[in-house]
Amino acid sequence: MFKIAVLPGDGIGPEVVEEGVKLLRALDRELNIGFVFETALIGGIAVDNYGIPFPEDTLKTVLNSDMVLLGAVGGPKWDNIEVSKRPEQALLALRKNLGVFANIRPVKSIKPLISASPIKPEIIDGVDLIILRELTGGIYFGEPKYRDREKAIDTLVYNRYEIERIARVAFKMSLSRRKKITSVDKANILESSRLWREVVNEMSTDYPDVMIDHLYVDNCAMQLVRRPKDFDIILTENMFGDILSDEAGAILGSLGMLPSASLGDKYALYEPIHGSAPDIAGKGIANPLATILTVALLLRYSLNREDLAGTVEKAVEEILKEGYHTADIKMDGKVVGTKEMGDLIVKKTLEILEGDMR
Ligand code: NAD
Repeated sequence: MFKIAVLPGDGIGPEVVEEGVKLLRALDRELNIGFVFETALIGGIAVDNYGIPFPEDTLKTVLNSDMVLLGAVGGPKWDNIEVSKRPEQALLALRKNLGVFANIRPVKSIKPLISASPIKPEIIDGVDLIILRELTGGIYFGEPKYRDREKAIDTLVYNRYEIERIARVAFKMSLSRRKKITSVDKANILESSRLWREVVNEMSTDYPDVMIDHLYVDNCAMQLVRRPKDFDIILTENMFGDILSDEAGAILGSLGMLPSASLGDKYALYEPIHGSAPDIAGKGIANPLATILTVALLLRYSLNREDLAGTVEKAVEEILKEGYHTADIKMDGKVVGTKEMGDLIVKKTLEILEGDMR
């Protein structure tokens, strides 16, 4: 049995999460996997119902699960409330409580979408990289934080064990990929980056087959646009990873296509990287593919079902190849809504599975 806590959140969150759950239920019916779903509130909708964005009941639900599927939180309605109650605070609390320190964001070009990218096709055709971002340390969590009218302080702290455990994930992951890691820091300026580089170098002696490169974050930001195909795993700290992963995602064209997984020792958190898209919420036009590709990551990392993950990814590519797409993707073909896209993916996934079983 696999217990999945479902946190739809705000805006388009519930619309796209519904399509992800639809796919998981269909797979369960077909293969008897044994998913059990429990839904809870997070973000603005939790503020409206409980007065806080991450209520105790939600914490209980997620701690009682094996993995969490999250939509997105936030929206203009909650933009002007006090900082501690803002929906984004719920995300930080969720990650910290689950101890999910390794954020994985795959960035892979999908053939039918290459024309939708702002970058020249020959530069992005064949891009297949992973941004591995440390998620529970660094400047987003460091103490002290301080603010008065004239001065503001944030603190960037990294402990050796935090660097070691994320680097270990990178080295292990690289063994089943191209055995190439680019570690990104700002070691010319920051002490925490000098420790980061030192630890990664020390650990690399345990993995003699893996090639390690070090890049300063500003240089990496530039190289990602110029030669994205040269990267395999980009290993970096929390804030640099936040920025670089959005950049890497943007080169592919649409925010609505990018999945993420965050792994810890006990729990895993799965979420599309886009936000709650208040501008299109409730219209039934949001792209559910980021969530559906997130479900593929859940199958890959929490269930160890590389076969099923690959099947879902193949179904997405096939449907796009047939010309079906949501309105956010600028390409020829037929524009469909959120639910229709979800249905197309379920149907295609089951067709591929049946073909494989025959
Ligand atoms: P956003 O990702 O919500 O939207 C940016 C643009 O991309 C919008 O035009 C939106 O319509 C479009 N878009 C995003 N996802 C899409 C999808 N699946 N299908 C089609 N179009 C899509 O970012 P934003 O506008 O900066 O933020 C809106 C709200 O979301 C804010 O309150 C922000 O704090 C929150 N947010 C939440 C998360 C999260 O929950 N993880 C992440 C980012 C932003």
